[in-house]
Amino acid sequence: MTDADLDTTVYYDDDADSSYLDDKTVAVIGYGSQGHAHSQNLAESGVDVVVGLRKSSSSRQAAKDDGLRVATPATAADEADIVSVLVPDTVQPAVFEEIKGSLEPGDTLQFAHGFNIHYNQIQPPEDVDVTMVAPKSPGHLVRRNYENDQGTPGLLAIYQDVTGEAKEEGLAYAKAIGCTRAGVIETTFREETETDLFGEQAVLCGGATALVKEGYETLVDAGYSPEMAYFECLNELKLIVDLMYEGGLSNMWDSVSDTAEYGGLSRGDDIIDEHVRENMEAMLEDVQDGTFAREWINENQAGRPSYTQLKHAEETHHIEEVGEPLRDLFAWADEEEEAAEAAAD
Ligand code: NAD
Ligand code: MG
Ligand code: MG
Ligand code: MG
Ligand code: MG
Repeated sequence: MTDADLDTTVYYDDDADSSYLDDKTVAVIGYGSQGHAHSQNLAESGVDVVVGLRKSSSSRQAAKDDGLRVATPATAADEADIVSVLVPDTVQPAVFEEIKGSLEPGDTLQFAHGFNIHYNQIQPPEDVDVTMVAPKSPGHLVRRNYENDQGTPGLLAIYQDVTGEAKEEGLAYAKAIGCTRAGVIETTFREETETDLFGEQAVLCGGATALVKEGYETLVDAGYSPEMAYFECLNELKLIVDLMYEGGLSNMWDSVSDTAEYGGLSRGDDIIDEHVRENMEAMLEDVQDGTFAREWINENQAGRPSYTQLKHAEETHHIEEVGEPLRDLFAWADEEEEAAEAAAD
């Protein structure tokens, strides 16, 4: 169905036909963030689920304790009609080698992110469907929302459709994990992968942390107290982001003081100027032409030397030392809020 206010198609519960999962078995490979949520939601929606985990996996007991059947990845895939690959993206190619012999013609290889298919790290057999159902949330929320009769928005993409039923089956899977309760948007493996990588690098993870650190360092270098700099540049960011999340940019501008609004509106473009736009375009090009993907694949093959170094530098940044005791100081506020929420329930 088409949502009147959106130019993309959004699918809801009524658009999904659960019978496409009738008599089918889903093997969920991996029991981490997404894996535990998909398997439990699928099982509670009445789908036959088997969790695929290595014999040595520490997650085996957790899956069993949650009442799920557990087998090795190859055995689970053997039994299954749909194999949902929910191990970390960097280990998926190796895990795929273990399960590919178990895929029969007409089976479905299902993902929650497009990296390995889009960058050819996994070459699926030609006679299986290849789909993506990607909740736009960490797994614990996919699980919690389902338990609370709410949904988690998600994406659906079809890379290969040999049965002619890939989309219907994908929608049924999305319904079974609760995504069509909130809305599922159709996309492609390419679009999902490239926008995901760009977003996390340029804006969400890379851009936001760099902005916070530059602001913090500017104030501290000018002689202001690190504690004040921490609050202004890191702590308060959450309040601003919450307002944008709830009601868009205008909601945020309406909630801050007129002084903050005028200062922000008149100065924001001086900080994020045309150079930033050029940097973003270059970053997007690296994502599009596979430069970033190759770098990350090589980095993993080399044992993650740069990753380790960058992670260490971030962990030992001054703002991290200043922040820890300050967050402890404010723990009482969170506790009070939780107590108030509990009393209101
Ligand atoms: P995760 O890191 O939580 O998965 C860990 C699990 O994978 C472990 O519990 C174990 O069962 C298994 N595993 C780990 N190393 C393994 C190995 N070497 N061999 C075999 N199994 C191993 O993963 P995740 O974050 O749930 O990601 C799974 C997929 O979901 C990825 O494609 C990811 O991009 C996608 N995704 C994640 C999120 C998220 O917020 N976590 C959101 C949307 C999509
Ligand atoms: Mg099979
Ligand atoms: Mg993302
Ligand atoms: Mg990502
Ligand atoms: Mg202020």
